[in-house]
Amino acid sequence: MPGVITVSRRRLVLGAACAALVVVPTVAGWSTGRALRPSAAPSVSAAPDPAVLMPSVDPALSPSPASTEATLPAGMGAPVGWKLSDVPRFPPAPPPEPITLPPGDEAPFLSRIPVTQPVAFLTIDDGFLKNPEAVKLFAAAGIPVTLFLTTDAIQDDVPFFNRLRDYGAVIEAHTISHPELAGRGYDFQRRQICDGADRLGQWYGRRPVLFRPPFGDKDHTTLRIAKECGLRAVFMWKETVDKGIVRYQEQLKRVQPGDIILMHFRPAFVQDFLAALRAIHRAGLTPALLEDYVPGAGSPAPSVHFPPAHVRDLG
Ligand SMILES: [Zn+2]
Repeated sequence: MPGVITVSRRRLVLGAACAALVVVPTVAGWSTGRALRPSAAPSVSAAPDPAVLMPSVDPALSPSPASTEATLPAGMGAPVGWKLSDVPRFPPAPPPEPITLPPGDEAPFLSRIPVTQPVAFLTIDDGFLKNPEAVKLFAAAGIPVTLFLTTDAIQDDVPFFNRLRDYGAVIEAHTISHPELAGRGYDFQRRQICDGADRLGQWYGRRPVLFRPPFGDKDHTTLRIAKECGLRAVFMWKETVDKGIVRYQEQLKRVQPGDIILMHFRPAFVQDFLAALRAIHRAGLTPALLEDYVPGAGSPAPSVHFPPAHVRDLG
């Protein structure tokens, strides 16, 4: 059932989060070179196992993905530094039960979605290091992932993240230059939050509907601006993953239903991604799409309600 929004501001792991905001040189070395897609909906159509990404499918009518090893599309290339058998397999996520957003002039700030369903939400931030294994991992895992991307971090290879959208990623906003927002003035924050979202909308054909402030730091101005420019909820997290290690904020060292997990596009991307999935699997949970739990943010048609009129002509 819809839950009441609870605002949590646990800061135990802030030091670890976003600590890699040093600009690391890209090792991508490749680009798809294809045109940006004008799709308005989260792109999951090319995922290898639609049952994982379409919770409305009756599990009884489809083969269980939990019993089969991950596969990769032909031509994608072999995994480098990991094996397909390293990728946990999950049962289909249940039909989402969107939460109820509170009224008022501020977007809600959440680190856990208040649900009892056996789901967790993987989020990956910033976008500085574009590891060519990422698209293979996404394709093999076949799970939904929300990317909170900083435009300055990704502008050198916009198509890299578009390719991740083909395998379950949805792109959301994380400012232009990753500054500390709390305590800054309205105009400064407005440019970072709203113009950053607009830019992502131009690049990817879908304007973000969710926001994460750098370092998880925000003030009332942040939440008010997020709401003003069509970002429906603002997110922190409950677990972080770095160098292959999952760090928990709470004494119960286990991913709990509704938890939002944070990792980054860092050098240990492969280890972090697999560690996050193992932690979710160990907890008996299934990755679900964060956007499906926020009213007005989810598939199939977020653009029905957004973007607001002042950015609708961005194309
Ligand atoms: Zn960040």
